[in-house]
Amino acid sequence: MILQSDPRPVLLHGGTVVTVDGDDRVFVGDVLLHHGRIAALGPAGSVQLTPGTRVLDVTDSIVCPGFVQSHVHLCQVLFRGIAEDLALLPWLRQRIWPLEAALSAATLRASARLGIAELLLGGTTSILDMGTVHDHHVVFEAASTMGIRMTSGKAMMDRVGQSSLDEPTAASLSSSNHLADAWHGAADDRLRYAYAPRFILSCSDELLRQTVVEARARGCLMHTHASENPGEVDAVRAATGRDNVVALEERGIAGKDVVLAHCVHLSEDERASLKRHRTRVAHCPSTNLKLASGIAPIPGLLADGVVVGVGADGAPCNNRLSAFTEMRLAALLQKPAHGAEAMPARTALRLMTMGSAAVLGRDGDTGSLEPGKRADVVVVGRERPHLRPLADPVATLVHAAEAADVTHVFVDGRQLVRDRRLVHDDLGSILADAEIAVGEVAARAAIARGLP
Ligand SMILES: [Zn+2]
Repeated sequence: MILQSDPRPVLLHGGTVVTVDGDDRVFVGDVLLHHGRIAALGPAGSVQLTPGTRVLDVTDSIVCPGFVQSHVHLCQVLFRGIAEDLALLPWLRQRIWPLEAALSAATLRASARLGIAELLLGGTTSILDMGTVHDHHVVFEAASTMGIRMTSGKAMMDRVGQSSLDEPTAASLSSSNHLADAWHGAADDRLRYAYAPRFILSCSDELLRQTVVEARARGCLMHTHASENPGEVDAVRAATGRDNVVALEERGIAGKDVVLAHCVHLSEDERASLKRHRTRVAHCPSTNLKLASGIAPIPGLLADGVVVGVGADGAPCNNRLSAFTEMRLAALLQKPAHGAEAMPARTALRLMTMGSAAVLGRDGDTGSLEPGKRADVVVVGRERPHLRPLADPVATLVHAAEAADVTHVFVDGRQLVRDRRLVHDDLGSILADAEIAVGEVAARAAIARGLP
């Protein structure tokens, strides 16, 4: 299925517009979407309409940029609730790797569709996704048809004995190259490829070094995990003699085209490396709490000038894929240690929009409401009591609103959510497929689901 843009201009009329532009402008007014872009915006009455414009009355709603999540795993959405109360390394070895190894193309598709449905209905319009090892094309197919903006890549693992997901080095590289050639820039550049070595413990030096060559030859991002958890940090030191970020840098994985998820436990050398190379960081506050990893030093990284985004990570370590939950936690986490002013709502919203967009290398065309940018726009309805009164629209978005408050979602000007429902996909069949798929995967992995 090819998704067509709405040929008619759409005017979002009368909402409280939170732009996240360079001046953090907030006003009551209109946003005009046309040809997949934000054509104009401004206070009420200031936007010129052309004949045939479809007017959507969003009075009493907040209109904001689509949320951008800079680290998620669509392949793990089926595993929500099957990997509870474990720290990172046992969580991976006892649950996630066996479950990923048990995925088929059909069950992976069900996982991706469930995740994309949850993300879109909650106002996330753009993601950086890390896949599993096999059948990753079905994740791109799901994103292609469902309309979300996605940069993604299959997980690369070649350290023999780490997991049944291990591949020979050359096979991991060639299948990644194949996917990159097929999908990087597809769907009018809505889809991009990111090379995704899983983490340093699952990758040989040869795989990491060749990944840099292949990714840079194609202009693709590199996306991996680093310095997440004390046990992992110790294991990386034992294996490489270095701290995570420094070990990755020595293998060439550093720079503006590198996204490191987590960066919770950073030495001074690692902080210096991030700053020197302008390596990007994806902050995952819920996951860092749930896997007992710790609290990432985000205010310090921002003070260093490091570009930081936010993501929900995987459903089995969160267990939500809600941009609202992650924004609020990103703000709250820092306050006990650094003071009430450490992470204002404005900063948390910026991390979830422009920050993550910059992590993805897409802050030039997404992440804020500005004329000429891609029309990735979210409308948050304020019918429910927790969104009244509206003293501070940004604080309302970050600290009061929830995913279920999202009423309308546009990506590239296409309306994907209307009145809290998916426009182009049948949610009922997505949910039913997921229930069947998780039974198959858990049985194949011989992991109890905790259900009769
Ligand atoms: Zn992750």
